[in-house]
Amino acid sequence: MSHIVLDHLGKSFGASHVFDDLNLDIEEGEFIVLVGPSGCGKSTLLRLIAGLEDVSRGNLLIDGACVNSTPAKKRDIAMVFQSYALYPHMNVADNMSFALRLAGVSKADRSQRVDAAADILGLSHLLKRLPRELSGGQRQRVAMGRAIVRDPKAFLFDEPLSNLDAKLRHKMRGEIRKIHQRLERTTIYVTHDQTEAMTMADRIVVMNAGQIEQVGEPRELYRDPDNLFVASFIGTPE
Ligand code: ADP
Ligand code: MG
Repeated sequence: MSHIVLDHLGKSFGASHVFDDLNLDIEEGEFIVLVGPSGCGKSTLLRLIAGLEDVSRGNLLIDGACVNSTPAKKRDIAMVFQSYALYPHMNVADNMSFALRLAGVSKADRSQRVDAAADILGLSHLLKRLPRELSGGQRQRVAMGRAIVRDPKAFLFDEPLSNLDAKLRHKMRGEIRKIHQRLERTTIYVTHDQTEAMTMADRIVVMNAGQIEQVGEPRELYRDPDNLFVASFIGTPE
């Protein structure tokens, strides 16, 4: 059974249609990269999957069940944003465990989960630091740590590396893939960076003007684009 299914999914804000009739089956553990021009609805789709926006038309299925009316906190999905939104007055460990504390997870369990996530992310020596004492890459790792400690079934990333310089982006790409190999969680990763899409994806989903233009493995899209839009989007060098 597919993990996440978009079934004729549509979203409007009032009279403005963002997308209509999106259909996609995402398998458990798959790394999907979602690409498309600014304003085509990528963030809206992620927010809808996370439960932060309501479905306007069609159905969203998780593990075969329709979750259109399931609140975000019951979906077991964690989202990582481009802006890290760390709490400035809390140290790294507290930033990572805050949501767990709100969820009533015991102190011992929290600290064990923070230690495990910090180990994966190479943050173990920074747990007592404040966000302002960290580099951009380290802050992005803390934001990922907040998602990992929740042990969600799926991760959604919304352009997580776009604030970082090219060298760090390259490094973090590899790290995110490694974390994915280790945790084997379904991941949907939004980017407008072709290199990220080509190097990270199991399958790339190309969106344009509220439609899915093509879905396929990176090599397949590169060699065999369905249309001019996909060809130019995938084929243009960075
Ligand atoms: P992307 O992430 O691909 O750049 P978005 O999903 O952010 O695109 O936006 C898609 C479209 O939906 C845009 O035209 C945007 O203005 C519109 N939109 C997004 N959120 C809202 C909202 N809360 N209210 C009204 N329009 C919105
Ligand atoms: Mg966006």
